[in-house]
Amino acid sequence: MNYRKLGSSGLLVSELSFGSWITFGAQIENDTSKQLLHHAYDAGINFFDNAETYANGRSEEVMGRILADSGWTRDTYIVSSKAYFGAVDNPRPNQTGLSRKHLVEACHAALRPLRLDYLDLYYCHRPDASVPIFEIVRTMSDLVAQGKVLYWGTSEWPADLIIAAHECAERHHLIPPVMEQPQYSLVVRDRVEREYAPLYSRYGMGTTTWSPLAAGLLSGKYTDGIPVDSRLAQTAWLRALMEGKSANGIPGTAPKAVAPIARVAAAAGLPPARFALAWCLRNPNVSTVILGASRVEQLTENLLAAGDVAKLTPDVLAAVDQATAGLHA
Ligand code: NDP
Repeated sequence: MNYRKLGSSGLLVSELSFGSWITFGAQIENDTSKQLLHHAYDAGINFFDNAETYANGRSEEVMGRILADSGWTRDTYIVSSKAYFGAVDNPRPNQTGLSRKHLVEACHAALRPLRLDYLDLYYCHRPDASVPIFEIVRTMSDLVAQGKVLYWGTSEWPADLIIAAHECAERHHLIPPVMEQPQYSLVVRDRVEREYAPLYSRYGMGTTTWSPLAAGLLSGKYTDGIPVDSRLAQTAWLRALMEGKSANGIPGTAPKAVAPIARVAAAAGLPPARFALAWCLRNPNVSTVILGASRVEQLTENLLAAGDVAKLTPDVLAAVDQATAGLHA
């Protein structure tokens, strides 16, 4: 496993990491979650991604139990949580969003089930225009100062709001965000490659990128229909995607990109999933690519992508750019 700096911070994060969205506490059994987390850790993955909203908090409970039973020392892994969406259906006021109240309560609510004293990474899961930027930056900075959080960041914030957060932190001598968690894949690339381009050198911003396979689409698994045990079989928004509608930030054109990408991957001698993951890894502004998997065989395959980056020659990259022109966001 290779390790990269999280932006200009001192933190080393494995270039492939592992997240629990949709799977832990929901789609898969707890035993499978345990096998996956152990497999990831044994392969050198040191960052496990979570959020208050994943399975309404059950994902944090499942991960916390596995970590507590693992015997791994706390200095060998990094755990995140994120606040914004809340952890209940039909939330009351202040149970969602980025108010000081919710950010602090969501931090405590993550630490308890995760059975941790501090979160390594804590994200504002989306922007919240209803809260002053000073309140957000001050609260996240306070959580860092209190030792409850080591590094704070944003997820899917527009570049101008990230800049505003840095300017606010500088003006008030507060701690600025360190990382952003954006979607990034062969079909969703504009924000990471264009919108954020000035932020990497200006602020040393790190990125922990999500849905590298566009929720599984880029593995090619849906080419001959929908496998009954897949996430698409259980998720309405993904089915809408397959009907050509944009969903969850993935453009409706994405399914059309799958076959042309697979042809370029085959010419490069790679299965589609490994190709798509290696393509994310080739970007030096990506600190870590967060993998998702519902079974160990998927994770085993995906971990091979780290060794595939050298196969993405300039000719291969040009071919995939051409194959996906007009099909990505
Ligand atoms: P992917 O795009 O990689 O999708 C993962 C899913 O694709 C798996 O659960 C599995 O689904 C399928 N899959 C994975 N590998 C293979 C393979 N080799 N062959 C066939 N199918 C495969 O990532 P996720 O969408 O899961 O996102 C990764 C992580 O990013 C999340 O767990 C979460 O931590 C984070 N995230 C953050 C968000 C944010 O807003 N900050 C939003 C979304 C995710 P199946 O069960 O169908 O087989």
